Amino acid sequence: MPKPLEGSVALVTGASRGLGAATAIELAKLGAHCVLTARTQGALEEVDDAIRAAGGQATLFPLDLAKDGEKLDMVGPSIAQRFGRLDILVHAAGVLAKLTPIAHIMPRDWQEAVAVNLSACWRLIRTCDPPLRAAPAGRAVILTDGLVAEPRAYWGLYGFGKAGQEHLAKAWAAEVANTKLRVNLFDPGAVATKLRAMAMPGEDPATLPQPAEVAPQVAALCLPAESRNGEVVRRT
Ligand code: NAP
Repeated sequence: MPKPLEGSVALVTGASRGLGAATAIELAKLGAHCVLTARTQGALEEVDDAIRAAGGQATLFPLDLAKDGEKLDMVGPSIAQRFGRLDILVHAAGVLAKLTPIAHIMPRDWQEAVAVNLSACWRLIRTCDPPLRAAPAGRAVILTDGLVAEPRAYWGLYGFGKAGQEHLAKAWAAEVANTKLRVNLFDPGAVATKLRAMAMPGEDPATLPQPAEVAPQVAALCLPAESRNGEVVRRT
């Protein structure tokens, strides 16, 4: 029986651990060839091993979203040249950034948060839009956070980037509404990852859902049958 994503190509950012890694493994199990990006080569290789063990295939594309802008610009054209199209984009990379009062944010921390949590999303959309439009049923999913709708004290440095990403994704969804491409956001809620552990060091991660439990919901948004566009889909 053919797998639902057999023959498709998926680009997953933040694929070295947490939700990005789990989603990449899930997409590979559904038949997608996954292009994995993050900074940590060794961790990407471990995800590659897990994908191969599950019978899937991956290509590693290590890059720093904050520093390798020109390399990021080449992602879309490189995928188009090799595969002819991009069927799926999952943007899961993100950085917690310091939890601090707005008035105490230092320029260095502001720049990192802008670079990873906001500018990288724009640049990713810019480079991936053409090959996604070339796919028969292009699907893009951008990971967001519930605090965008409910800003919290001390979370502004993290939250403003996620809010900007949401705005970009919704505007992009409106722009592609008359194409075959569908763009949605996914709010995973609290999940046991490194990012969550840094934010809530006193929390027992065993009380939270694991990334592998949440990943099927992200992968479901990547299926050709998904018809929603411009929505924030929250974990059920
Ligand atoms: P995570 O485990 O900390 O993973 C973050 C990923 O982003 C890693 O693969 C990391 O890879 C990558 N990354 C960070 N900085 C990067 C950079 N400069 N260049 C390239 N890659 C970079 O976090 P997670 O919890 O899975 O988060 C995934 C997404 O879900 C994020 O967008 C987050 O905001 C969102 N989210 C998470 C939760 C939660 O409770 N976990 C809740 C709401 C929303 P390297 O370090 O190898 O580069």
